[in-house]
Amino acid sequence: MGVKFMDCIFCKIIAGEIPSYKVYEDDNVFAFLDIAPVNVGHTLVIPKKHYENMEDISEEELCNLARVVKRIGKSIKEGLGVKGYNININNKEVAGQIVPHLHFHIIPREEGDGLKLWSQGKYNEGEAEKAVNKIKI
Ligand code: AMP
Ligand code: ZN
Repeated sequence: MGVKFMDCIFCKIIAGEIPSYKVYEDDNVFAFLDIAPVNVGHTLVIPKKHYENMEDISEEELCNLARVVKRIGKSIKEGLGVKGYNININNKEVAGQIVPHLHFHIIPREEGDGLKLWSQGKYNEGEAEKAVNKIKI
């Protein structure tokens, strides 16, 4: 069952204190339409237990959440008749996270919907080697 955080808007949605268009619910996971959709059908998938971001949730619970994301992705594609969708998690404010309760965005995509992804750059000499050495596990 959910562990509710007092001032968390998503915890309030799970508790039914704030209305939402529910897409899916089980003992651990809740999914609902984003109130300000990038495209129609934009869905948020969240753990019922309050975790701020990916760093806080266990690998096992994350896998469980991802299983539901996969199922809802399929349901969005088939139900809305779209050709694809983006899955996104914003971790921390610097990455655009506004609501501090971990959530997957699933965004249905239509050809020519005008949604732009991030712009890409290139590495300077030696920069990729330095970065990979800092990141690799
Ligand atoms: P993020 O920037 O990743 O934290 O995304 C938060 C998302 O929550 C935004 O896309 C908002 O439109 C959405 N959101 C905020 N309040 C609500 C709400 N009451 N019901 C549904 N979605 C919401
Ligand atoms: Zn919460």
